[in-house]
Formats: sequence, C-alpha cells, structure tokens
Amino acid sequence: MKIKRIAIVGGGSAGWLSANHLGLELLRDSEVEITLIESVDIPVIGVGEGTVPALRASLQSFGIREADIILQCDATFKTGVKFVDWMTVDKREKDNFYYHSFDLTYPGGYDVTPYWLGSKNVEYSKLSSAYCLSEENRCPKRKSSPSYQGVINYAYHFDAAKFTTLLSDNAKKRFGIRHIFETIKQVALHEDGSIQGFYYESGEYEEFDFYIDCSGFSSVLFDKALAVPFVDRSDQILTDCALALQVATDPREEIFPYTKATAHGSGWVWDIPLTTRRGTGFVYSSQHMSDAEAISEFSKYHGKDLEDTDVRKIPMKAGFREKLWEKNCVALGLAGGFVEPLEATSLYVTDFCASMVAKRIPVTREEIPLYAKSCNAIARLIWDRVIDFIRVHYAVSNRRDTSFWRDVTEGVGLSDVLAERLELWRYSIPQRTDFPSTYDFFLVESYLMVLYGMDYPTRVPAMTERIGNLSKNAIVEHLSRSSELADSLLSQRQWLTEFKEYSATHKS
Ligand SMILES: Cc1cc2nc3c(=O)[nH]c(=O)nc-3n(C[C@H](O)[C@H](O)[C@H](O)COP(=O)(O)OP(=O)(O)OC[C@H]3O[C@@H](n4cnc5c(N)ncnc54)[C@H](O)[C@@H]3O)c2cc1C
Repeated sequence: MKIKRIAIVGGGSAGWLSANHLGLELLRDSEVEITLIESVDIPVIGVGEGTVPALRASLQSFGIREADIILQCDATFKTGVKFVDWMTVDKREKDNFYYHSFDLTYPGGYDVTPYWLGSKNVEYSKLSSAYCLSEENRCPKRKSSPSYQGVINYAYHFDAAKFTTLLSDNAKKRFGIRHIFETIKQVALHEDGSIQGFYYESGEYEEFDFYIDCSGFSSVLFDKALAVPFVDRSDQILTDCALALQVATDPREEIFPYTKATAHGSGWVWDIPLTTRRGTGFVYSSQHMSDAEAISEFSKYHGKDLEDTDVRKIPMKAGFREKLWEKNCVALGLAGGFVEPLEATSLYVTDFCASMVAKRIPVTREEIPLYAKSCNAIARLIWDRVIDFIRVHYAVSNRRDTSFWRDVTEGVGLSDVLAERLELWRYSIPQRTDFPSTYDFFLVESYLMVLYGMDYPTRVPAMTERIGNLSKNAIVEHLSRSSELADSLLSQRQWLTEFKEYSATHKS
C-alpha cells in the first residue's frame, strides 16, 4: 500500500524542520500530502536559540535566504561556546575560561597538540582563529562574504519563535505543507499496533499512512500511544531543571559572537545574544539546589533581584526513546529525546535525524522494516555519543567546591565508551582514529578543545627538536595571523547594523 498521507504532530522547531526536510525530499511525488498538526492550547517550548554549523546547510537546502534568518529572527552569529568558571576559580583567577570553537585548532592545518602539551605556552583555545574574533566581538563574515559563508566556521543564535515562523512560512510556500490547528485527544491503532488515525478535540477524526511525532516532551504518539520505552540517562547527566529569562539589551552594545556558558555551584548559565535581547537560562540539578536557591543565584548573575514570576521553570530529563522509528511512526525533537542545553545538541540531532528519515520515507508500508532498523541503530549511536560529549564537560573539571561538582566529577558514572576513551587519553592525545563512527557528532577537534581547555592530564609525548620547532613556529604564525584577521573584521554589532540598513534600502 502506497504511503500518501503523512502527518507531522507538533508545530515547534522540530515539526517545522521535519516539514521542510520531508517537503524537500517528497516534492517530486505529487501523490504525497504532508500535514502538520499543531495544538493552539499546547504551546511550543519556546527555547532552543543556540545552534551548530551543520544547520546552515539544511536551511540553505530548504531555499531559505540567510538574509531572512538574520532579518526575521533577530539572529546573530555564533563561532562557538565560551566556558567560564568550569575550572576551579582560584587556579586561573580572572582568565578562568576556555572556548569550544567551531573553527579548528590546527594552525596552518598542522596538529600542534603534541608540542603544545609539553610547552603549554598559550591557552589551547587560542589555537583556533575563533579565539581572537570572539574576544574582540568580531563578526565571522565580511561585508563581501557570500550567503551562508564566513571567514571562519559559524552557526546562529536566533529567536526560537521567529525561527519557527520562518521555517513554517517556507514549508507552506515552497513545499505546499498543509497546516491545521487541532489537538489530538485520542490515537486510534490498527490491529498490529501501528497508528491508524487521530480523534481531535474538535470532534473530527482523520487517518494518515505515516506519522512523525514532534509533539515535544508530551510525546503524544511515541510515549502515550506506542509506549516506546524511554532510555533514562539522568544517572549520568544530573542537570534536570532550567529557569529561562529574556533580558532587553542596549542596541548600541557589542554582541559577543558565542554562547556564554558560565558554571555555577550546581550547573551553569546560558547567555545567548540576539540583536534585540539576550536569552538566558539557569541550568541546575534539583538534587543539589532548591528552586529558591536557583533563583537567588540567577539573580546574582543578572545583578538584580528576580522573583519566581520573572522566570520560566522548565523541567528536563536526560534520555531518549529506545527507538527513533516504531511501526509507521518516527519521533523527532523533544518527543524523541533530550540531554540538556549545553552545546546546542538538540536541534543538531533533530535536524540530522529529520533529514535521514526524509531520505528514507518508505514508498509503501511494506518497506518500513527495511528502513526502521538502520535508522534506529544510527539514532541510538548518535544519542549515546552526544551524551558522552555533554558528560565530558563535567567529568574532567577540577572543581570540587560543591556536592554537585564532586558528584559530576567523581560520583556519577560514565558510559563504557567514554570511560575507555578518557583512560586512553591519559596516555595518548585524542586522534581522529578514536572516533571510527560517522555518527559521533563531536569528533577529535571538539574533544581536544574541551579536554585541553580544562587541562586534561595527558602524558607528554616525546618529540624531535625539528617537530618541536615546526610546531612552535606554526603557533607563532597562527597567533599573528589570527590577530590580523580579527583586526580586519567588523564588530558583530556593526556588521549586523550595516546589513540591516543595506537590506532596508535594497529590498528585492
Ligand atoms: C531549557 C532548554 C534549553 C534549550 N536550549 C537549546 C539550545 O540552545 N539549542 C538547541 O539546539 N536546543 C535547545 N533546546 C531544545 C529545543 O528547545 C528543542 O529541540 C526545539 O525547541 C524543538 O522542540 P519541539 O519542536 O520538539 O517541541 P515543542 O516546541 O514543545 O513543540 C511541541 C508541539 O507539539 C504540539 N502538540 C503537543 N501535544 C499535542 C497534541 N496533543 N495535539 C496536537 N499538537 C500537540 C504543540 O502544540 C507544539 O506545537 C533546549 C531545550 C530546553 C528544555
């Protein structure tokens, strides 16, 4: 039986990313109709404003103009994450930070890490060109940079609600996605347990052939109807609550081109600059900090007294569904899993899996088992390794000042893979070959920056004088080139202001 009617449940960023991916792949088949169902009574989560560079390629493939991301979503450019206070404060005093940048730390394409380990003559983060740009609030694009290209690698920060509208407008206009507002009250199942259709609150009933669950944490199809088990990873990831707060900014203020992640006694604070405001959030472990303490600590971060009512509390649970694909249904976005906001992994995983599924949407129901098995295996791999990468930020810290930091460094477990890797990296520098899977989303470059940003104690390898000198010179040249590059770029604020002025006078 041909699959002709596809339903996407949920109008958040996961739903609309999926709609664009499906639209792109299925446009050529005029017999297929894609419907996105959204409830007016159940709001979208409304956070999720930091991204990774991979999203650029998807947005471009959907036919979205980069100018529209900038102009319509209050977007700014992100060259990485600045981690502040993730190490013992008194060890590094005021320079207590490191970067995980999207630009690699291979000066001139050369891995200087073996030399660096022996000399530690500069902070490891400085081996990426992004360091200078970030510290000077520079824009990773020139005025002449083509759309979706920069002088170094970058991602976006954007207003989540406006981003969803942009995706939605594009999916409807370009791919003819049908969009309806209904709340699913009950899910009807076929005899084999697959999904047959929906009873809506409005009293209507509708059937589809294939279903994508993007209903957020409520996971209406995967959890409630299909009962796909949840793989709970809260034993490894202890942060389980976030307080979100948006703060207005002065339009003349510089815009830092990174997500700032400042550690505190029981978690960390995200700080994401947009052109019009900052999105901030206090992430914490409820086992280690009460809500009242969290609000008080968050108040300190903002330098003003916050009340319960000023912030939005969002509970989280680290883990993922045992399967991405069950019978005639796939779960994407928060319905499929979530770790925590660090490193913006959620939209990353959603975008990748939505693209993977869209390329594998079966033509007939009989093909489903062929695709489901491999997609499930890949999704499982992705989740396990993404959790490792988040976990490593906590695991290798030298902070022991609170029970939270003692627990995340010494108390709670690591996956077997991460435990083995960390043991190996005590003796030998991480290598590309330590990451044999294509679905390890964070590879050696990312691990190098986090591990050596946090002084991970790898044994210093022996090295000839010639290699030592080559590395030393590569670092010196790189530092001078990075500084020249930063000097040649506009500040992010100036670039964005001039871009907006130019766009206003050159409307197409
Ligand atoms: C604190 C926090 C911070 C985050 N920060 C980041 C970040 O910086 N970067 C990042 O990549 N990700 C981040 N995320 C994750 C990100 O917010 C999500 O990946 C993204 O918003 C997608 O959400 P979603 O579409 O899956 O769910 P939602 O936005 O919750 O959308 C769910 C949709 O389902 C619909 N729905 C639900 N039930 C029904 C029903 N019965 N009938 C009909 N419709 C229904 C709702 O109406 C809604 O449209 C963060 C998440 C949290 C919790």
